[in-house]
Amino acid sequence: MKIIHGINELRAFLKGIKIDKSIGLVPTMGALHQGHLSLVELAKKHSDFTVATIFVNPTQFNKKEDLEKYPSNTDQDLAVLKQAGADLVFVPSVKEIYPSKPELNISFGSLEGQLEGKFRPGHFAGVGLVVCKLFNLVRPDHAFFGQKDLQQFFIIKKLVDELNFNIELHMAPIIREENGLAMSSRNERLSPDQRNEASLIYRSLVKAKKYLNDGNSIASSKALIDELFAEELSLELEYFEVIDTDSFEPLNSIEGAKTIALCLAAEIGNVRLIDNLLLND
Ligand code: AMP
Repeated sequence: MKIIHGINELRAFLKGIKIDKSIGLVPTMGALHQGHLSLVELAKKHSDFTVATIFVNPTQFNKKEDLEKYPSNTDQDLAVLKQAGADLVFVPSVKEIYPSKPELNISFGSLEGQLEGKFRPGHFAGVGLVVCKLFNLVRPDHAFFGQKDLQQFFIIKKLVDELNFNIELHMAPIIREENGLAMSSRNERLSPDQRNEASLIYRSLVKAKKYLNDGNSIASSKALIDELFAEELSLELEYFEVIDTDSFEPLNSIEGAKTIALCLAAEIGNVRLIDNLLLND
């Protein structure tokens, strides 16, 4: 497995690969878990050469504390990526990606006015910028992102559609801990007790999904979620919304919507967790 830190070396190396191989890109911020490795596995299925990136992108953090506390263990990440069969890992420094403070500000219109965009101002502008950079640096044929960050996937789809990137996007299912908690690098900051308590996020999403599929209204599913969270004091519900993935606007009724998702964010001991389920999965 090749490890590259610099942009020039990356471009020179990939030039030779592109002659006869398709490239799959898996962007990550490190602190890797099974969820990330499932993306590598999927990339290997769809492409001849798999490039993973490890870069904790400062421009997508709206809270300094969150960036400072973001877990990092590059040596271990490289070992697991090698075992998973990645062909190349790009591990740039912040200076390499942002030699000066970026002035470009990508806006996603109404798509970023909701949910994560609303609660994390500037987050998607930062994601859009770094993903554009990675797409231009690697020029992949395929790129792989997790359903775990559902709104991010649709933000990136907008980038690809509106900027005409010649890249096929793939969305990988959410990999979960045994208790249902969606795997996340942030889970490393939870105690064993908090991990158990945080499983309420998935359990309540499953209940709300069944409730909606049984014909109950969105308003009553929200009341159900409020009740469930009221019983678990360590978890603070930030939002629960039922949305259409075309716009991410919260729905009042599921009639007529195309692809519906239940999206939830909650905080436990200063760690912010998100999860979602598709209604028709
Ligand atoms: P991150 O390192 O958190 O930026 O995540 C890198 C990629 O892994 C993103 O496309 C995430 O959506 C994806 N990912 C994170 N957690 C999971 C998970 N539990 N299951 C599947 N994919 C995930």
